[in-house]
Amino acid sequence: MSLTIEEKVWARTAEDILAGLKSNAETGLTSKEAADRLRQYGANELPGSTGHSAIQLFVMQFADWMVALLAAAGIISALVGDISDTLLIAMIVFGNAIIGFAQEWKAEKAVDALRKLSEPHIEVIRDGAVRKIAATELTPGDIFRVRAGSAIPADARIVQAAEAEADESPLTGESLAVEKNDRTLAETTALPDRSCMLFCGTALTNGHATAVVTATGTHTELGRIARMIATAQSGPTPLQQRLSRLSKQLALLVLGICIAIFVAGVVREPFDRWNSRLISEMLLTAVSLAVAAIPEGLPAIVTVALALGSQRMAARNAIVRRLSAVETLGSVDVICSDKTGTLTQNRMTVAEIIAADNGSARTDSHDNETSVRGVLVAASLCNDARPDPDGTPTGTATEVALLTAAIRNGIAIESVQTQWPKLSERPFSSDRKRMSSLHLSESHQPIVLVKGAVERILERATSHGSLCAETLELRVATTPFDHQHWADHAAVLASRGQRVLAVAARKWAVRDTLQSDTDDAESGLTILGLLAIHDPVRPEAADAIRQCHSAGIHTVMITGDHQETARAVAAEAGLKPTVDGSMSGQELESVTDQELQNRLPDIQVFARVAPEHKLRIVKAWQANGAVVAMTGDGVNDAPALKQAEIGVAMGITGTDVSREASEMIIADDNFATIVAAVEEGRVVYDNIRKFVAYLLTANISEILVLFLGVVFGLPLPLLPVQILWINLVTDGLPALALGFEAAEQDVMRRKPRGREPSIFSDGLGRMVIAIGTFMGACSLAVFIMNYEPGATEETLPIARTMLFTTLALSQLFYVLSVRSNSRTLWELGLWSNYRLAGAIILGFVLQMFILYLPACHKWFHTVSLTPSQLLVALAASTLPYFVVESTKLWKRRKAAIP
Ligand code: ATP
Repeated sequence: MSLTIEEKVWARTAEDILAGLKSNAETGLTSKEAADRLRQYGANELPGSTGHSAIQLFVMQFADWMVALLAAAGIISALVGDISDTLLIAMIVFGNAIIGFAQEWKAEKAVDALRKLSEPHIEVIRDGAVRKIAATELTPGDIFRVRAGSAIPADARIVQAAEAEADESPLTGESLAVEKNDRTLAETTALPDRSCMLFCGTALTNGHATAVVTATGTHTELGRIARMIATAQSGPTPLQQRLSRLSKQLALLVLGICIAIFVAGVVREPFDRWNSRLISEMLLTAVSLAVAAIPEGLPAIVTVALALGSQRMAARNAIVRRLSAVETLGSVDVICSDKTGTLTQNRMTVAEIIAADNGSARTDSHDNETSVRGVLVAASLCNDARPDPDGTPTGTATEVALLTAAIRNGIAIESVQTQWPKLSERPFSSDRKRMSSLHLSESHQPIVLVKGAVERILERATSHGSLCAETLELRVATTPFDHQHWADHAAVLASRGQRVLAVAARKWAVRDTLQSDTDDAESGLTILGLLAIHDPVRPEAADAIRQCHSAGIHTVMITGDHQETARAVAAEAGLKPTVDGSMSGQELESVTDQELQNRLPDIQVFARVAPEHKLRIVKAWQANGAVVAMTGDGVNDAPALKQAEIGVAMGITGTDVSREASEMIIADDNFATIVAAVEEGRVVYDNIRKFVAYLLTANISEILVLFLGVVFGLPLPLLPVQILWINLVTDGLPALALGFEAAEQDVMRRKPRGREPSIFSDGLGRMVIAIGTFMGACSLAVFIMNYEPGATEETLPIARTMLFTTLALSQLFYVLSVRSNSRTLWELGLWSNYRLAGAIILGFVLQMFILYLPACHKWFHTVSLTPSQLLVALAASTLPYFVVESTKLWKRRKAAIP
């Protein structure tokens, strides 16, 4: 039964293919048959997008040259006789691997979950009914329906098509859209010319089509050439790249220092004491320090932070398709948003109708004045929305509003639409901003009905008149046509924030067609009336815009609506546009790029724009150095969505094409969701800065202790297992828990961070060095105070244990002060990040075990401290914490922040 490409499906009729696949264009496959075939042919997906298995991921933790070096040093040490050190090191390395594994596993799962959230769905016919299924569940013989903007999820033979065009550039490289129809072709037809086929990985850009699946997954043309489609999993983000460069540079620096420590540690001993024991001890110390202090795990922890951020965003209805978007969102300078549905509710109702012979009605008045009825009948006929079986209209919000108004005025739209069917149609597009349809009146007179943006209709109108709702006969008024009168009326309605549509008609000679290449049928029109549609602003929009304002983010509204309408809605949403603050599509076309760039900072509203204009707006903002988020839903929005740093597609009204071109999908189409995502993006960036600062401060202190120890001619102040232990308890859980830190109070009150700032900006680098040095110095001071060179045997273990304890606890306490840039722990509350509190308590308890469990003494080379010794270590270890907290208070007093 299976059909493959070799069978040349394009050279056979659709009926033949359907019969061959035992399917039916009207009823599709049965669910059972589809399930059987899915088992037989496998899921409709291409390989290569899957992540690592758990075992691979775990093994990868050891495939690190630092770990290899440590293993080598451990083996040398074991050979020299210190087997317990080697065993313990092995265990610590293992513990590290488990933490690393847990981090990466979590990150990978999060990415997987994201991919599932944005997985495409498709409309199929199964068991005789229309269903929406995941595209991966498609199987040969399935009948699917696609329309302009839909992604094609499998190879399929077209059964029926209307004005269908597809963009096949991912497959053929051909950037122009190609026509699609159901005609059978010659066997020799080359792939780019197979107009009766739809191919996986391409998209429909115009019209609609029904097709039967002939190949899925790897059997598709795309699968055969094995070209991968970009998936949610992509390469490292810019920040990860920068951090991995930083890790490498730090690695070199740390290695240099470790080599110096090794050489100095050996050379300072008298030559007769140079033995394998000394060399192996120094080697192990140097290598352990290198392992502990080289922040090779940074990029991985960043992934975890980004993944956590993406989960929080998903919980707030923002689904990112690439992890890098989480990071970029935090740096957005400009949000360009559609009006309808994003800033408004997309719940349109006709608020007012003005008919040509001065009749006017509010829709709730049940005014049956004949001319108003004529306007409503025309608006219902020149309309793609249709009533459901239960009578409620479905279609675009604008068109549904028109039908609803007609129903409210007592017009039986179903019988009207059946009585005067559309014989031909020129569809609505955002570029044309109008639509027309052809009907036959009672007297068999062809009548063209047109509806659309007021100026587009007015410029084509030469008279006014009325349409008889009962006979569809057009009566042209004899009184002079006053163009200005209509424009003024429309302006008044628009200034209330209403979308105004004009309805017009003309008699037409040709009976059955509206030619799409001529405007004739849409000229010499007779205006029938105006309809004003109200779409309430989303209640949360004003607040979100205020937040953007205080966060230094410029908000721009972009709409196809009239400038007056746009300005009124913008004002209601809190954008406060001045007269200069709005620009029309026409004006946009007349200004140069430079002029546009200069004026951009003052413009809040772009009105009457075509989707193509969006690309220019994005580029102009980017030329000004801004990071731009741009919303879009249609096929024509895709270039602008791709160009913007953050393309934002609509989850409800968006097309597949717009989603494919986007970094983020907002599930509720709501502007406030974009702002929430930006806030989360900023939180993630803050948290990444926090743990980078924390880890590096800790590393500096460790390096300093050993380095100064050697410089001052002290015995090794810290032993290899102790170094590795500190690294394990501090770098692991506490650093990870910082990723869960909640938003800073001022997160949406500071300016965007700019394009690529250093992660150490705003004095963070200085703080890392200063606190790292201070922490190291405090710990070393504790060592020096307790060590007597004359009594090494007795004092060295105590001094070491005290330094070990001071350094480990310093890092645990210090992390509490890293939690916020401005608030102290008392203000935040210890338990507000309970994971961090838990990690610290765990670290503390383990450290006490090492101190007071005799069994641990041998392994960690520690001794039990007396209460007063412990107190000294505790006191010293809280110093860095207090320094940071006092600095915050001091800074706040200086800036007069409460
Ligand atoms: P927004 O940016 O606010 O989401 P938009 O850019 O999607 O709006 P369009 O839907 O392109 O705006 O509408 C532009 C204009 O075209 C409207 O102001 C209206 O006058 C007209 N219009 C909208 N829908 C239709 C339709 N179905 N038939 C005829 N004219 C329409």
